[in-house]
Amino acid sequence: MTALSTGESWFVAAMVKATGDMWSKGWDERNGGNISLRLADREVEPYLPFWQRGTAWPLGETMAELAGQYFLVTGSGKYFRNIQLDPETNLGVIRISSDGRTAEQMWGYRGGGVPTSELPAHLKSHRARQRQNAGRSRVVMHCHATNLIALSYVLELDAANVTRALWEGSTECLVVFPEGVGILDWMVPGTDSIGDATAELFASHPLVLWPYHGVFAVGDDLDESFGLIDTAEKSAEILVKVISMGGARQTMTTQNLVDLAKRFAVEPFAAAISLDGWCLSKTTEALASAQDLLHVRQSMFGR
Ligand code: 13P
Ligand code: ZN
Repeated sequence: MTALSTGESWFVAAMVKATGDMWSKGWDERNGGNISLRLADREVEPYLPFWQRGTAWPLGETMAELAGQYFLVTGSGKYFRNIQLDPETNLGVIRISSDGRTAEQMWGYRGGGVPTSELPAHLKSHRARQRQNAGRSRVVMHCHATNLIALSYVLELDAANVTRALWEGSTECLVVFPEGVGILDWMVPGTDSIGDATAELFASHPLVLWPYHGVFAVGDDLDESFGLIDTAEKSAEILVKVISMGGARQTMTTQNLVDLAKRFAVEPFAAAISLDGWCLSKTTEALASAQDLLHVRQSMFGR
């Protein structure tokens, strides 16, 4: 039997393309970001004779529902910019063991690598989406998209408010993510708790913002999850520019958004469509007015 090279598979090629594009976008400094792509049994079957079961990493929680499933997952501490140079070192395929208690190394992570530290968030999110849409969502993608992170420092951190801001940041947004963006409180990354909280939000949103850290997206494939982040991040960039220019002087109205939803037959996130615009965080406003007072004081009293 001629050896079938996993490095030449469609799924490794797709991951190389996605991670290369994300690096080029500036979303993945150093080892920032991670991706998991679920592989169907029929897709892994031709490669199984050439894979060897290696390390079994214990999972924080038993994942009985994912037992026997295969995922192509980026390695922890690996740089997206290097994946194209050496996929077998920077990526790996894991199989969730039959009892759901471990992730078994099947391919990759050459030289002692391990799957991403965000594996709990990935697996829990896959499980949440599978419960919802019978496995149609095959990708969970995380990155440090610059403008979305920047916005988390100034917007009122409420799912409806952030969604509304992003919808108003660019006309296509409501059509691309009508279910809106979920938001966590700041939490320690790489833990089961942040994984649980993220997965819970994926039940109602395709995007989840981690304040001061980054964004998670789920999609049917790599293109869809990349496209979701790209669209939200583009809108965030526009909002950052608008806020930096002193704030919007005009914007889309609620009626405009309603018309958009009607034309493209989407059901918008009710809490966001019923808002009358979006707002900056009150804390920021309090800080800004304290700074204004300080400036007044300095200009009046010179100290
Ligand atoms: P990993 O290198 O473990 O994937 O972590 C990167 C990251 O972005 C953590 O949130
Ligand atoms: Zn991260």
